[in-house]
Amino acid sequence: MTPEQELEAIAAEVRACKQCPLHAGRKHAVPGEGPAQAAILFVGEGPGFHENEQGRPFVGAAGKFLEELLAGIGLTRQQVFICNVVKCRPPGNRDPLPEEMQACASYLDRQIAAIHPRVIVTLGRYSMARFFPGARIGDLHGRARTVDGRMVMAMYHPAAALHQPSLRRTIEEDFARLPAVLAQTESSAPAEPTHAPAPEQLNLF
Ligand code: URA
Ligand code: SF4
Repeated sequence: MTPEQELEAIAAEVRACKQCPLHAGRKHAVPGEGPAQAAILFVGEGPGFHENEQGRPFVGAAGKFLEELLAGIGLTRQQVFICNVVKCRPPGNRDPLPEEMQACASYLDRQIAAIHPRVIVTLGRYSMARFFPGARIGDLHGRARTVDGRMVMAMYHPAAALHQPSLRRTIEEDFARLPAVLAQTESSAPAEPTHAPAPEQLNLF
């Protein structure tokens, strides 16, 4: 299977999935979207109202802000892969439950394996917890760290940052670091964890 075919197979499974109770309330599952060759993979929390209506990730207000943040570093949403830790909308936009994230985890794992992104950017606490269990977003945001041989950078959720001027500035600054983090991955294959540079060295600004 090509990576494109694998992504399409994952999406088809997600659309038919009944592995957790969130399937019951969905209008459309939201597997995620973007090119199989994407260098950057964004992982949000879960579909909201508009995402559930359309079956696409980040199409509401948070999505519009995400597109602005991408534009700020010369990227469009068509150039990156965008998905969530849970693929079906939690009722009333409540936080996803641990058992729902657990049930859904293998889809994200397989998307990462198919895409092999050079950098994973987590948006918000729930996707951060997937890669940095127990970490605090206030400590970790904007710092690229190597997890299982791959760069992962935690950021605030755009929905949280949108209406809070200080967080908004923070997420804009964190996004501005992305090109340098990406450039860092260009010269070599993903580093072995034992040879990974210290996190401080990855903060280029
Ligand atoms: N918020 C998310 O976390 N994901 C979406 O897809 C939309 C809004
Ligand atoms: Fe399946 Fe994930 Fe949807 Fe639950 S949230 S039904 S595990 S696709």
